[in-house]
Amino acid sequence: MVDGELKRGYFNFTYKPLRNEKGEIYGILNMALDVSEMVESKLLLKESESHFRQMADLMPEKVVNTDPHGDIIYFNQNWLSYTGLSSDQLKEDGWAQFIHPDERNEFEQSWRKSLDTGNDFEMELRILDRFAKYKWHLSRAEAVRDDKGTIKMWIGNNTEIQKLKEEEKRKEDFLKMVSHELKTPVTSIKGYVQLLLSLIKEGSSPDISKLPVRPSLERIDHQIQRLTRLIAEMLDISRIEENKLKLQKSNFNINTLVDETVQDIRYTSTNHLIRVQHESKCTINADRDRIGQVLINIITNAIKYSPEKKEIEVVVTMETEDTVSVVVRDEGIGIDPQKHRSIFKRFFRAGGKSEETYSGFGIGLFLAKEIIQRHGGSIEVNSELGMGAEFKFTLAAINDKSIES
Ligand code: ADP
Repeated sequence: MVDGELKRGYFNFTYKPLRNEKGEIYGILNMALDVSEMVESKLLLKESESHFRQMADLMPEKVVNTDPHGDIIYFNQNWLSYTGLSSDQLKEDGWAQFIHPDERNEFEQSWRKSLDTGNDFEMELRILDRFAKYKWHLSRAEAVRDDKGTIKMWIGNNTEIQKLKEEEKRKEDFLKMVSHELKTPVTSIKGYVQLLLSLIKEGSSPDISKLPVRPSLERIDHQIQRLTRLIAEMLDISRIEENKLKLQKSNFNINTLVDETVQDIRYTSTNHLIRVQHESKCTINADRDRIGQVLINIITNAIKYSPEKKEIEVVVTMETEDTVSVVVRDEGIGIDPQKHRSIFKRFFRAGGKSEETYSGFGIGLFLAKEIIQRHGGSIEVNSELGMGAEFKFTLAAINDKSIES
């Protein structure tokens, strides 16, 4: 009872015997110390700790809590499900063993430095998941201090950045490839120009018909086309990123476009046999140049990725009553089914040694997919490694006339 009001209180009771001169107990001293404030603040702390844990468990990040010396107090739920271990196992094994060996040393050194100095910790590192796969994380830790500035504990936070890292890597590879792709045609053009200049020396009047002027100019023209295409594709990429890729639609016959495109490609790729089959005739409403671009990308890929087998098939067929498909089939190196989704991503190249063997910069299929999807159509691949590839895109048809036999 405090000031006439009933209140909950916490007391520390001590009972002490009171003895006379003969040592006989004649009474008991009962002392009650009011410790309500201390107990309540402990309860409050416990409550706030349990709130912190609840909150940490809900977070998508991996949260860890250590004492001032770096000894683990707590791992949140996400840490446990990521590693597949219990909190006790994790505490016992330590978290450093989950860090990729390439980053472990640096991690241990910087973490130690933070523990010694109290400065924030920050590092990008790979952490092993329960499927034995390393994933990139941004790891951060900050000290929690009391009013006097003494470190009470550390709170660490690991955010997965695997996708960002992959994108970063693709961009780096892309830049390398672009520089390579730009350099190759420029070097070749320079070579032909120097050859012609050396043949047509200043002051001399050579017989032009005896000089290799035409083949040199043809090669130069071919290289300029490569450069123009590269630049156009780069511009398209930024247009797509800014959502500014405009379609200029008109009605046209898809069969004629396929024939014209294949004819153009045959001029430059004389080593491959491209067979065209029109199972149906069809008009579509689309951007003719853009669909032409998709066809060029897919057919030149079919050529590029089938250096041994020289036959390519292009088929125009009615997929359903209202949709037409163009299928491009090659018998080349094929694509691992696991990579089917990725090849349509920006800057993605199916990898391995082939990246160096086949020139390219991994944006052709990304552009093709964007263009087809913006027309409301779809594009897909069907392939196995070493078994050739089949690319098919499907668009809405305006009319369908089966070919008269
Ligand atoms: P690239 O400039 O690398 O050819 P693309 O976006 O056109 O870029 O293609 C992406 C990746 O898909 C290529 O690097 C290649 O690995 C794979 N690919 C595309 N077409 C074929 C094909 N017909 N056969 C085998 N692999 C292919």
